[in-house]
Amino acid sequence: MARDYYELLGVSPSASPEEIKRAYRRLARELHPDASGGNPESEARFKEVAVAYEVLSDPERRRRYDMFGPEGVGAGAGAAGDPFGFGGGGISDLFNAFFGGGGFAGDRRAGGPTRGPDLEVVLELDFADAVFGTQQPVSVRTAVPCDTCEGSGAAPGTSARRCDECGGQGQVRRVRQSILGQMVTASPCPRCSGMGEVIDSPCADCGGEGRKLEEKSYRVDIPAGVDTGSTLRLSGRGAAGPRGGGHGDLYVHVEVRAHPRFKRQAYDLVDEQRVSMAQAALGAHIKYETLDGSEDLVIPPGTQSGRVFRLRGRGVPHVEGRGRGDLLVQILVDVPTNLSREEDELLRQFAAARGEEVAPPDNSFFGRIRSAFR
Ligand SMILES: [Zn+2]
Ligand SMILES: [Zn+2]
Repeated sequence: MARDYYELLGVSPSASPEEIKRAYRRLARELHPDASGGNPESEARFKEVAVAYEVLSDPERRRRYDMFGPEGVGAGAGAAGDPFGFGGGGISDLFNAFFGGGGFAGDRRAGGPTRGPDLEVVLELDFADAVFGTQQPVSVRTAVPCDTCEGSGAAPGTSARRCDECGGQGQVRRVRQSILGQMVTASPCPRCSGMGEVIDSPCADCGGEGRKLEEKSYRVDIPAGVDTGSTLRLSGRGAAGPRGGGHGDLYVHVEVRAHPRFKRQAYDLVDEQRVSMAQAALGAHIKYETLDGSEDLVIPPGTQSGRVFRLRGRGVPHVEGRGRGDLLVQILVDVPTNLSREEDELLRQFAAARGEEVAPPDNSFFGRIRSAFR
């Protein structure tokens, strides 16, 4: 799916939801197998168009697509942890929503192998890895094609044959009389379970499924700037479908561990830095650790508590790859406590010089005991 979704639908990236819907309807009519005479090229295009519409018609997924491209678009629903389940159906569901039944698995076509389900995994990342990007392995229990039968499900040396019951259509139709008149119902063929083919000698290794469960590990490229809630799509890394059906996709949901100091505000990082009263009043150079390393943070004389310094370009890189956010350091001035006698006297002199009223020295019994222990 290399082509741009907007381009596939023939609309501009600023198209309204109505324009997108209209474009999809028009293309779907044009490319639908009934209209195109089952031309495989049209069918392939229809599938692409349907995927594009599925994403762009959902405001949240469209936003993510705009931000991250196809990799960023996650399908919410899925068959997580159930690689043999039937997670698919997205395209024909969508089709049915528009045309009322009869999608690809419809009357004229054999059911055939279905694409395997999409899988979902959650990937926990360290804060700095999410900021700068990384490569991480993810393991997933998935269905892979059976080596012994090369995914066919038939024992080596044999092959599947057309189902007699449904003539390879994958479904059977029944006509029955009801009070409303004659009704035709179509249901998956019970003999071949909708596959259109039957296997007389199933492969011993996979029991005729053409696939088996395996623990697989994939290396995932994590782009710089992802955050909790980001989803990466690994096309074709989902489970294999039965008997040579294609692979679903693998969705990797990112969760970022908290950092002891930094918080994220979109692409900015936020931190607090404590300085002493004297440093705030007289100014200071402080060794300050950013995610990129140590820097000299200059506290100018007279810095008030709460003041925010902005270190440009020391924040989170934009996922689209241009520029970085800033690092905002808020200064908190510590008021000294547990003063020694000498410090106490110096501060009193300081207050007197500025004509400031301060509380008298603590000459109570407990106060004297306290100072005796200093
Ligand atoms: Zn097999
Ligand atoms: Zn059948």
